This record gives sequence, structure tokens and C-alpha cells, in this order.
Amino acid sequence: MDPTLVLVGRPNVGKSTLFNRLTRSRDALVADMPGLTRDRHYGHGRGGPRPFLVVDTGGFEPQAKEGIVQEMARQAEAAIAEADVLLFIVDGRTGLTPQDKAIADRLRRTGRPLHLVVNKAEGMNRSIVAAEFHELGCGDPLVISAAHGDGVRELVELALEPF
Ligand code: GDP
Ligand code: MG
Repeated sequence: MDPTLVLVGRPNVGKSTLFNRLTRSRDALVADMPGLTRDRHYGHGRGGPRPFLVVDTGGFEPQAKEGIVQEMARQAEAAIAEADVLLFIVDGRTGLTPQDKAIADRLRRTGRPLHLVVNKAEGMNRSIVAAEFHELGCGDPLVISAAHGDGVRELVELALEPF
């Protein structure tokens, strides 16, 4: 089986944009409206050192109690259970949020390989952006721009290194 990379993070951080870039598709809906991706989306990863699968998830809010948001969280939990590698996406423009901290706590408890990915960082100073997210305790952040493609190749190579 090809290794499965699962994209997790709160709504609107750019998971679907990254999914589309990794799979070179337009399958995932990208929108300014948070939480548009309600189900899991699967795709074949392309352009990496080996074949891989990518799973896009709706926004993950561990405290969600009801409705669509809770369903999205349930889908994200199911995807996490299938992950060989978790890519935890955060937004370098918004900065660190309490939701990010809650998600980090949840993901670290899975014990699965986890990479922290700071997105939307085009034109920003990488080390300054990375420093802000260190306190999440998820290791050295990888600073990327899913929209522009910056850092995406490096991210894939690192995530697939063990396989
Ligand atoms: P999701 O909810 O996490 O799947 O986020 P989306 O992929 O739907 O993106 C949410 C918004 O962020 C959209 O307006 C995207 O165009 C924008 N976005 C995604 N990636 C980037 C990026 O690398 N840079 C910038 N500036 N905006 C981005
Ligand atoms: Mg989405």
C-alpha cells in the first residue's frame, strides 16, 4: 500500500489548496467560506519521490459538539486513524490560535508521524513565521505556500522519507 498523508487543521488554513497541488487536481473545493470540505477527499499524490495517497479533511475542531462541524470532526478523526503521516496545517498570516493548540494536543496523542506545516507564507520571513509556531510542540515547522507552491516539494520529500 502507498503511504497515506492526511491533511488536518482548522477551517480555512489552505488544506484543500494543498490537496489540489499535491494531487494536481481541482477536486477539492477551495473557498473563502470556512468548512466547505465536509467529507474526506482522497487523491493520488503526484510529483513526489514515490507514489502516495493524500486525504483532505474538513476543518477539525476537537471541541465541536453539534451539526456539520461535529460531522467534520468525526470525518477528521476517521482520517487520522488511517494516516501514515499527519500534516498539521496552520495559517502563517492569521498566526497561532487557541484552536491550533487544541488540535496539536489531539494530534500529538495519536503517536503518529506528524509534521507541522505553516501555510500562506509567500513573501514572509520563514524563520520569523516558524518561530511563532514552535510552542505547539510539533517540531520544526515547515513553511510553505500551497497557493504558490513554495516549499511543497520539500514537504513531500520529508513526509515520505521513512517509506
Ligand atoms: P481549507 O478550509 O483549509 O481547505 O482552506 P482552502 O484551501 O479552502 O483555502 C482557504 C483560503 O485560503 C482560500 O481563499 C485560499 O485561496 C487561501 N489560501 C490557501 N493557500 C494559500 C496560500 O498559500 N497563500 C495565500 N495567501 N492564501 C492561501
Ligand atoms: Mg477544504
